Amino acid sequence: MRTFEYLKPASVNKALALLDLYGDQAKLIAGGTDVMVQWKKRIISPQVLISLRNLAELSFIKFGGGLEIGAGTTHRALELSPEIREHFPVIHDAVSNLGSVQVRNSGTIGGNICNAAPSADTAPPLLVLDTNVRIASTKGERTVAIRDFFRGPSRTVLQTGELVTLFSIPAPLPRTGMAYSKHTRRKAMDLPIVGVAVLLSFEEDLKTCRKAAIALGVAAPTPMRAANAEAFLAGKPVDKTTLLEAGKIASEEASPRTTIRGSAWYRKEIIRVLVRRTGLICMERAKGAARS
Ligand SMILES: Cc1cc2nc3c(=O)[nH]c(=O)nc-3n(C[C@H](O)[C@H](O)[C@H](O)COP(=O)(O)OP(=O)(O)OC[C@H]3O[C@@H](n4cnc5c(N)ncnc54)[C@H](O)[C@@H]3O)c2cc1C
Repeated sequence: MRTFEYLKPASVNKALALLDLYGDQAKLIAGGTDVMVQWKKRIISPQVLISLRNLAELSFIKFGGGLEIGAGTTHRALELSPEIREHFPVIHDAVSNLGSVQVRNSGTIGGNICNAAPSADTAPPLLVLDTNVRIASTKGERTVAIRDFFRGPSRTVLQTGELVTLFSIPAPLPRTGMAYSKHTRRKAMDLPIVGVAVLLSFEEDLKTCRKAAIALGVAAPTPMRAANAEAFLAGKPVDKTTLLEAGKIASEEASPRTTIRGSAWYRKEIIRVLVRRTGLICMERAKGAARS
């Protein structure tokens, strides 16, 4: 029978000290919704699990210009935050349709990002929001832009002894609309076949694109920004036609795999459609933001 030791430090500093002590024998566990599945499937066999569960230091949502989210914040806490819904709807879109309520009650945003699945639902929203990831170890802290955080499927820039403490998001420009759309095989509790986040900031005319950010999930080995599609939209009047073209460009930038969930060709088609559809939602939301 496989066993592991389960350690529950009372603070982030104590967790970091334990990470130092056990090195590669240890695995962090937050909500455990990925870790326990991987343990059962024998993908991982840590000798020590270091729990971050219920560490108040890691569980918070702070507004003030921008937004800071503690890595241990559950998807459910984000889903239920009225401020997230109003000011960062792209995050609300993603977390309110992630797994089941039970999964959202345990699963954390830090776990979702650090697990580094190409299908992680919170990755495209954090990418379009230009999020910075704060990383701590016993040696100190460092900050990495989320677009540099992922290194491949299940791989990140995290070194042994490091953990993520928070995600820091700058305040969006005025007249910004943002949205996330997920295409799944079935309506309930499914990983995305493709996930698309779009953020559009407009000039005062509410037509000309001042800034475009487009991020794709399950479109490459890591969640990615569609830089060419973004450059195409910047400075242009945004409408159905330009969004359709941006969708085509984004789909050309993507390099998805064929898997049991969907073929590469199908994923590219869905990207094309979802960029346009999600962009249209952004336009509506930007108008709403300008009115309020
Ligand atoms: C039934 C089911 C449905 C699901 N549906 C979805 C879905 O629709 N969309 C989706 O994206 N995901 C889905 N998931 C996957 C999972 O729920 C999410 O990825 C969740 O956010 C993981 O968070 P967690 O806190 O449970 O992570 P854990 O399982 O505790 O940890 C995941 C990984 O992150 C590491 N880690 C955790 N916290 C930190 C930290 N602070 N610093 C460094 N490393 C850390 C762990 O060591 C581990 O490698 C589903 C899972 C299940 C079981």
